[in-house]
Amino acid sequence: IGKLYIVPTPIGNLADISHRALAILAEVDLIAAEDTRHSLKLLQHYDIQTRLISLHDHNEAQRALELINKIQQGLNVALISDAGTPLISDPGYGLVNQCRAANITVIPLPGPCAATTALCAAGLPTDRFRFEGFLPVKMQAKHQALATLLLESATSVFYESPRRIAQTVADIVEVLGAEREIVLAKELTKTFETFYSGTAADCHTWLEADPNHQRGEFVLMISGVKVNQSEVSSEAMALLTLLMKELP
Ligand code: SAM
Repeated sequence: IGKLYIVPTPIGNLADISHRALAILAEVDLIAAEDTRHSLKLLQHYDIQTRLISLHDHNEAQRALELINKIQQGLNVALISDAGTPLISDPGYGLVNQCRAANITVIPLPGPCAATTALCAAGLPTDRFRFEGFLPVKMQAKHQALATLLLESATSVFYESPRRIAQTVADIVEVLGAEREIVLAKELTKTFETFYSGTAADCHTWLEADPNHQRGEFVLMISGVKVNQSEVSSEAMALLTLLMKELP
């Protein structure tokens, strides 16, 4: 019986791949990738010839069964995504869950992940953090999701698309208040890597100041509320009460 390896790949800088990741990708019988054409470029760059097979949100259920079959026949499989760590706002959960249910050994490799890369340089507390992936796109659902942070004391970490980043920061101003501290981490590991931190209002102004500020890939971090500042809590509480009235 074979094994399933979970292999993180770079989030922008091609050099951010471990020796072990390259060795595993070269040794396994099959690499399951979100977008095979995209991943082919990475493999070609490292002269890895392993066969690729697609596994994305739309075929995961069917593909998982096929891959489990192959692993049970003795093949070793690596799972990669377009960038960063598979399963972190990326496909793979169904496959891993079913592999474990079928007693297949799943071996995770550590490696690049935009959330932790952003967090460790943001200057926000890291002792407790809440990873939320992408916010809902629809406004009401997004506001509801943001409202759950009114009393959150841990740092929250989100992924956001460049098309929505300015609107999302405007939504933060509306739901969590103009003074909530946030950090934007943009284009991590790439040439134009930028961290911008300030109040939600400052960040919104910065994003709107230049269309280039909105381009690229973003991790958005929202600071927690300081629990012992009763001032903040009562303001947040008042807002929460207001918002709750609006919810269905
Ligand atoms: N699995 C990936 C990981 O481990 O980080 C995340 C995949 S998710 C589909 C893609 C999102 O991650 C992007 O929309 C962006 O929010 C964030 N992201 C990925 N690469 C990034 C980078 N170089 N800089 C900032 N954010 C990045």
